[in-house]
Amino acid sequence: MSEETLSNLSREDRTFEPPAELAEHANVTAEAYERAASDREAFWAEAAERLDWEQTWDRVLDWDDPPFAKWFVGGRLNAAYNCVDRHVEAGQGDKVAFHWVGEPADDTRTLTYQQLQDEVCKAANALTELGVKAGDRVAIYLPMLPETVVAMLACARLGAPHTVVFGGFSSDALASRLTDCEAKVVITSDGGYRRGSASPLKPAVDEARAKAAGEGFEVEHVLVVRRTGQEVDWDDAVDVWWHEAVDNASSEHTCEFFDSEHPLYVMYTSGTTGKPKGILHTTGGYLTGTSYTHHAIFDHKPETDVYWCTADVGWVTGHSYMVYGPLANGATQVMYEGTPDTPHKGRWWEIIQEYGVTIFYTAPTAIRTFMKQGREIPDGFDLSSIRLLGSVGESINPEAYMWYREVIGGDRCPIVDTWWQTETGQILISPLPGVTAGKPGSAMTAMPGIEADVVDEAGESVPDGSGGYLVVKSPWPAMLRTIWGDDERFKETYWSRFAKQGYYFAGDGAKKDDDGDIWLLGRVDDVMNVSGHRLSTTEIESALVSHPKVAEAAVVGAADETTGQAVCAFVILRDSAGDGGEDIVEELRKHVQKEIGAIAKPRQIMIVPELPKTRSGKIMRRLLKDVAEHREVGDVTTLADSSVMNLISDGLSSEK
Ligand code: ATP
Ligand code: MG
Repeated sequence: MSEETLSNLSREDRTFEPPAELAEHANVTAEAYERAASDREAFWAEAAERLDWEQTWDRVLDWDDPPFAKWFVGGRLNAAYNCVDRHVEAGQGDKVAFHWVGEPADDTRTLTYQQLQDEVCKAANALTELGVKAGDRVAIYLPMLPETVVAMLACARLGAPHTVVFGGFSSDALASRLTDCEAKVVITSDGGYRRGSASPLKPAVDEARAKAAGEGFEVEHVLVVRRTGQEVDWDDAVDVWWHEAVDNASSEHTCEFFDSEHPLYVMYTSGTTGKPKGILHTTGGYLTGTSYTHHAIFDHKPETDVYWCTADVGWVTGHSYMVYGPLANGATQVMYEGTPDTPHKGRWWEIIQEYGVTIFYTAPTAIRTFMKQGREIPDGFDLSSIRLLGSVGESINPEAYMWYREVIGGDRCPIVDTWWQTETGQILISPLPGVTAGKPGSAMTAMPGIEADVVDEAGESVPDGSGGYLVVKSPWPAMLRTIWGDDERFKETYWSRFAKQGYYFAGDGAKKDDDGDIWLLGRVDDVMNVSGHRLSTTEIESALVSHPKVAEAAVVGAADETTGQAVCAFVILRDSAGDGGEDIVEELRKHVQKEIGAIAKPRQIMIVPELPKTRSGKIMRRLLKDVAEHREVGDVTTLADSSVMNLISDGLSSEK
């Protein structure tokens, strides 16, 4: 590898200061960085005091046996009690926890903290009745329903780790997760609403259960929520209706308190880079990390804010920033069942207008889709309640950032570009909205109490203006504890690359700009080597997206006889660009050359209708690389929509 781990190509000079009013009343100010730097453990101990502990810890961090961390050792607490009961006990029972919005128009439900408590207690009693005990695993395979959150919290209440499997996944993906974590019970529904029609869910559970049984693993019970009223096959020995078991259960349930390190859940990663890993999160540190960051980064004010995180609960963002962090903080939230374009393309904006959403957290992929459709759609709604915007999942291209800021944020709201992973459990790198002047495209700096850095091959911190590997140098509360059932893979995957230094290696490439602010540059596995220059996928994609005709772009390096690798780009055009015109490909190649230089000019640009994405909206570059190198495409089981690959290859063959 060359001395410079990644060629440093693009520049960004725009910055946006925090709004004065927000800065003045910010939950967290610049002081937090210093306090955390002077005593990190004391800083996190103070954050842990945000929670209710049955018994406080006697040691903040046990790092005697790295990389196996223990946080708040000896402490005892219950996650569900912290997310629900304590708010009711504090007189907040009538406060809305969720404004739930179903996909069919006018299908809505409001859940107060008191109602949430009743439902969680009933569900906990029903699960106990089905034989679920502390330590047993429960799989949750549901659409975005109130019952989904209730189910998660009921598991947490019982100390039974849940594993939520995205409702869009196939029975194969479900079966492999069921057997991997040996789930005793599966909670599902007859079906769910998707783009205006009812699609079945229960049959996939039946299939997955049969597959698991074929491998010698028996699921004991399936608890079924009735959502759509579709016909379902029924096995009396196994299947139980939610409305019979839960609705008839008592709403009295005394919760037990668990050790701070008691397992809370197992979440499988997106599988963007390979086979998903079962990431284990535990209780005390996780709840501390998510609740503190939600408070600090979203500047969340429980009395006045209406918070909406659009992530599916089958993704870690749904766990940390829709369930555990916000509920621990007593938030009032919006939860939406459907897709953004049903029944019309302005549905999200309509929901924001209706509920007066003040904090909005979504992913760049969604923002780029809205850019593609044009600003007339959001412009038709009153979005003036919004005061803060967040982004997660991928780098937000500067062009998408500016669009988000201007069109959705009315040019007045700060954007927090939050970097983290399933493994990190909590946000690690982000601006603080009352402190940091944001730059379009940069996640800026490590949070107070987090030591993140960009290092070179040898693990040395790179100087400002250079690129390298993103690492975390010391443990943090919500960090993963292991890969479920596979400590060796845990050590190998995250801790072997910089074993000498003891750093956590995240797998992402990053650079520090001249001010020392951090820019994420994509997976190191995706870095391209073109004639000896190491180029980042993110930078070339951002250059393409900055062209007025382009909505989305994905870039991969394909083997090339002369240059080693060549840049291949897949581009989705904005609706307003039509077919882009005859010379569109040449126009875009020149544009990239102008924006970042001849070395980055794509050898090939393919105009496509869609890109392959994971359930969390991340582009699966490894599949595009297969296309670019004319190979059979690899594992597509974690794609949100597996027909997309056919769409792309059909489109390409008809072009010839
Ligand atoms: P797998 O590990 O199975 O390949 P995955 O990495 O896509 O899947 P996640 O944990 O959902 O699974 O995603 C984390 C990754 O998402 C990060 O490593 C990073 O590449 C990307 N990411 C998340 N937030 C940001 C952000 N704000 N800026 C840039 N990249 C981000
Ligand atoms: Mg990953």
